[in-house]
Amino acid sequence: MHRYYGRATESESATRSRYDGYVPDGVIRDVDGEMIGYYSANVDVTAQRKAEAELERTLEDLRRANAELEQFAYVASHDLQEPLRMVASYVQLIKQRYEGKLDPDADDFIEYAVDGANRMKRLINDLLTFSRVGTRGRPFETTRVSDVLRHVQDNLAMAIEEAGADIVVDPLPTIEADEAQLVQLFQNLLANAIKFRREGEHPRIRVSAAREGDDWIFRVEDNGIGIEDEYFDKIFIIFQRLHGKGDFPGTGIGLSVCKKIVERHGGRIWVESKPCEGSVFQFSLPTRRVRETGEQ
Ligand code: ADP
Repeated sequence: MHRYYGRATESESATRSRYDGYVPDGVIRDVDGEMIGYYSANVDVTAQRKAEAELERTLEDLRRANAELEQFAYVASHDLQEPLRMVASYVQLIKQRYEGKLDPDADDFIEYAVDGANRMKRLINDLLTFSRVGTRGRPFETTRVSDVLRHVQDNLAMAIEEAGADIVVDPLPTIEADEAQLVQLFQNLLANAIKFRREGEHPRIRVSAAREGDDWIFRVEDNGIGIEDEYFDKIFIIFQRLHGKGDFPGTGIGLSVCKKIVERHGGRIWVESKPCEGSVFQFSLPTRRVRETGEQ
C-alpha cells in the first residue's frame, strides 16, 4: 500500500494541536474548518482484479456447462418418452394376447421385457423431474414454511396414517423461495423418514429451523434405520440407493432432487445419522434474497 500525504504532513507539527481529527472525505481541516491538507491511500489491485476476472470467467463457463447438461437431460428424457411408450404398450399387448399360448420360456421373456420397459419409464420420468428443477423453477416469493409443511402433510396423509407416524413441526420462518420446490423438498425428506422406518417402530419425525448467521438451518429428524457414515455423500447422487427394491421401494431420485432444489436456493444439504438410531437431514437456506441461480 502506498500512502500519499498532502501539505498536512509538512505542517503537521505546527497544526497538531489545532487538528480536529479524521475527516471522511480525506480532507484534513483545522478547528475553524479550513483545509490544511489531505490524505489518500492507494493499493495496487491489478493482481486481485485479474484473479476476480478469471474467477468470473470460470463461473460463467460452469454456468453454461451446467445449463447445457440440464438441457441435454431434459431433451433426452423428454424425447425418449414417446418411443418408450410405444415399446411398452406393444410389449404389454403381446403379453395380453399371447401369454400361455407360446412355450413357457416365451412367457418369461415377455415378462422381462414388460418389467424392463416399466423400469425405464420410471427412470426417464425421474430424470425429467430432476432436470425440471433447473429448467422449470418459478421465481422466488415470500413463502411461509409452516404452510409448506401443512401442504406436505396433506399430500402424505395416507402414508402418515398407514405408518402411524408422529410428526412434530416446530415454529418455522418465512423466507424467499420457490414454494412448489419447497413442498417437493420437504415432501421427499418426510416421505423418506416414513419409508426408512425401523421394523416394529412408529416413525417419530421432528421438523425445526434455527437461525445461524445469514442462514436458516432446517432439520428433519427421524428415528428410522439410519445410514452408515461412509454413505453420507453417496445418497445425494442421482439413482444411488443403499437398499434393493425388495426392501424399500424407490429409484434413488428423491435426495438428488432435494440437493438440486437447495442449491438453486443458494444453500447446501447434508445428513448426520447413526445406523439403527435415526437420521437428521439438514439444509441451509440464506435469509437474504438470492438470485435464482443460487448466487447472491
Ligand atoms: P429412494 O428413496 O428412491 O431410495 P433417495 O434419493 O430419496 O431415493 O434416497 C437415497 C437413499 O438414501 C435411500 O435408498 C436410502 O438408502 C437412504 N435414505 C434416504 N433417506 C433416509 C432416511 N430418512 N433414513 C435412512 N436412509 C435414508
